[in-house]
Amino acid sequence: MLITADRDRCIGAGLCVLTAPDVFEHDDDGLVHVLEQEPDARLEGDVRLAQQLCPARALALESASPQST
Ligand code: SF4
Repeated sequence: MLITADRDRCIGAGLCVLTAPDVFEHDDDGLVHVLEQEPDARLEGDVRLAQQLCPARALALESASPQST
């Protein structure tokens, strides 16, 4: 899972920080900063909830790139 945050959309509501504090934080501007772009699988539920709760729809999740074999 790869997380991207669109800081142009973020309004600093902070729900992502409250929901998944190991993954998101606020920077000095009060906007989202992604601490872990590829978080541990145990955090996936929290990250998905944070994405759903974000009022600005600023968070996007992608499946991790498949490894070439
Ligand atoms: S929940 Fe959305 S709007 Fe609020 S800080 Fe996180 S990314 Fe920004």
